[in-house]
Amino acid sequence: MGLLIEHETCTLCGLCVEKCPYGALQQVGGRIRVTEQCTLCGACVEACPAAALSIEEGAAAAPESGAWRGVWVYGEHDDGRFHPVVFELIGKGAQLARALNCPLSVATAGVASGQMVSELTGLPVQSLYVAENKALGPYRDAPHARALATLVQRHRPEALLAGATARGRSLMPRVAVLCRTGLTADCTGLDIDAQTGNLLQTRPAFGGNIMATIETRRHRPQMATVRPRVMTPPSRRGTAVPALRRVPVPEPTSDHLVQVISRAVREEERVHLTEADVLIAGGRGLGGAAGFELLRELAETLGGEIGASRAAVDAGWIPYAHQVGQTGKTVQPDLYVAVGISGALQHRAGMQSSGTIVAVNTDPNAPIFQVADYGVVGDYRAVLPQLIRRLRQEER
Ligand SMILES: Cc1cc2nc3c(=O)[nH]c(=O)nc-3n(C[C@H](O)[C@H](O)[C@H](O)COP(=O)(O)OP(=O)(O)OC[C@H]3O[C@@H](n4cnc5c(N)ncnc54)[C@H](O)[C@@H]3O)c2cc1C
Repeated sequence: MGLLIEHETCTLCGLCVEKCPYGALQQVGGRIRVTEQCTLCGACVEACPAAALSIEEGAAAAPESGAWRGVWVYGEHDDGRFHPVVFELIGKGAQLARALNCPLSVATAGVASGQMVSELTGLPVQSLYVAENKALGPYRDAPHARALATLVQRHRPEALLAGATARGRSLMPRVAVLCRTGLTADCTGLDIDAQTGNLLQTRPAFGGNIMATIETRRHRPQMATVRPRVMTPPSRRGTAVPALRRVPVPEPTSDHLVQVISRAVREEERVHLTEADVLIAGGRGLGGAAGFELLRELAETLGGEIGASRAAVDAGWIPYAHQVGQTGKTVQPDLYVAVGISGALQHRAGMQSSGTIVAVNTDPNAPIFQVADYGVVGDYRAVLPQLIRRLRQEER
């Protein structure tokens, strides 16, 4: 896979050199040369009036042993503060790096800051790579994808992991396309094949009925996204910080399809389901939006957040940002209280790894009781007020 130049057809007009956003083409000694900065973005192919350039789409060879080394975690951040999933991926990434006997690094795009470095204090991260250009911030998919792809092409990590957050889901496919490699989305397990050293990327398939393990045998880097709260962050040891490696990247020129004019925090962004230690979730059994008031009281007493089943969201009782499950968020709080939720497979897929699960349901045969540590068979309108009263008494 690479950029092919037909030198006999090339007229040396220089348009490809001019249009390349990465400065990856040079005219040397009467010929166009491609440097390692090339991300195969195709801008030069489109620009060439003589059709002398093409991207070779032939079958890729198995990656050269040792040419790609290191495990990278994408450092999703807002103004220098990393998303919690970054720390969870560092936990898993460190295990993978140990198995491969290679370094673990965090890679991101934007402007490097002292805060980024200090947030990684005491974690097993060797380097923090920042594809740097002031014109990159605030976050936009296309320029950030190109910047990250440039980092990958230059430093060649063998695996790149990212959170399956809204941003990760949008950014990583773009990076994978620019790097001409594969991407496995929403993994729940990652491991290394002891024989081949390949990344084993496991994820649910067919509505969670089977677990599929996917390998990227012929391309690098091996890319995977993982939902927040699936992996566990490592504990911090000592005060060591990673080496900061600033990598200047060209100013994005042709990518300005999106311009950020202003920024406002939506209600959704205030819902931190995946970070909550306590979640009180309601379903169709609540009978209406008013039912969530009792849940809010309980959540306030316990210091928790409100979750919901899809049935409650579809009924318009609560916004989608609260939905837990296969098409909502995957959560792993210490305490999950399911109220009026039957426990369908798609709901359980998003909450069954919670620490302690408590279910309140009128139906003793509801499937939620199969995963619950404690179950109360009864009407929530009778059960919750008693529970709240009892907890408040204990607080005093
Ligand atoms: C592709 C796909 C993706 C999906 N993704 C999701 C997802 O992300 N999240 C999700 O939740 N679902 C999802 N679903 C829907 C899922 O299959 C169920 O339909 C849904 O979870 C049911 O929600 P529920 O448990 O609130 O409602 P129900 O299944 O109707 O259960 C209501 C429960 O409340 C109990 N109840 C009734 N009255 C009371 C009372 N007064 N007090 C206490 N308990 C009471 C009942 O006994 C019952 O068990 C998905 C489905 C598909 C096909």
